[in-house]
Amino acid sequence: MKGRKFAVIGLGRFGSAIARKLSERGAEVMAIDINEEKVEDIKEDVAYAITLDSTDPKNLESQNIQEMDAVVVAIGTNFQDLILTTFALMELDVERIIVRAQDPIQKRILEKIGVREILSLEDEVSNNVAEQLLNPSVLMSIRLPDDYEIIEVKAPRIICNRTLADIGLREKYNINLITLMRRGAIDDKMHIIGVPEPSTKILENDIIVIFGKSKDIDRFLEINE
Ligand code: ADP
Repeated sequence: MKGRKFAVIGLGRFGSAIARKLSERGAEVMAIDINEEKVEDIKEDVAYAITLDSTDPKNLESQNIQEMDAVVVAIGTNFQDLILTTFALMELDVERIIVRAQDPIQKRILEKIGVREILSLEDEVSNNVAEQLLNPSVLMSIRLPDDYEIIEVKAPRIICNRTLADIGLREKYNINLITLMRRGAIDDKMHIIGVPEPSTKILENDIIVIFGKSKDIDRFLEINE
């Protein structure tokens, strides 16, 4: 990520986590908040930390915000400021604007004003919680368009100690195994076992990452309950 420039506006839990992550990965990050304390807190971790009110386009322009590769708007509770900030960024022709929505109505409003990239953390979290309640072995799920999803799940016993060719996930269930994770004997951490081959064997306690239609994945998980 070297040489890439990002701005994060709103340094609550969400915004500051994104800013720190981008910075850790080598990006040049400008972290912005109206609250000086928030700016102080992140100062050491990012390239620039600036106190300003982002609803005023002049403030944003003075920081050359239009030169950023992307700007993340993570103002949480104050929706009016979120909208005004987003609008100012659009007026300044910022190339990529990513905005966080707190609920479905905010999401609709942002869509209507033409925001193309909307982050809905609450959607993701509630989706994951629901998924885990329905099936406790599901560790992570990403919902994709057209009823597809990617899930991370503990390898069901019925497929353990068998090769992928033998299990036939694609033929029997219409799902693809993207990869699998296995605990390392030496460091006790989970490791990705590369790109799977037909001869790859799934072992007990592996975690599998699979892709497919939700209904096909549900069918697969039910069979193994
Ligand atoms: P989170 O749920 O991520 O903790 P918060 O709503 O607590 O979100 O945080 C949003 C941040 O956005 C706060 O630190 C707040 O000071 C900042 N913020 C709110 N309005 C503005 C504004 N007009 N300009 C810049 N930052 C703002």
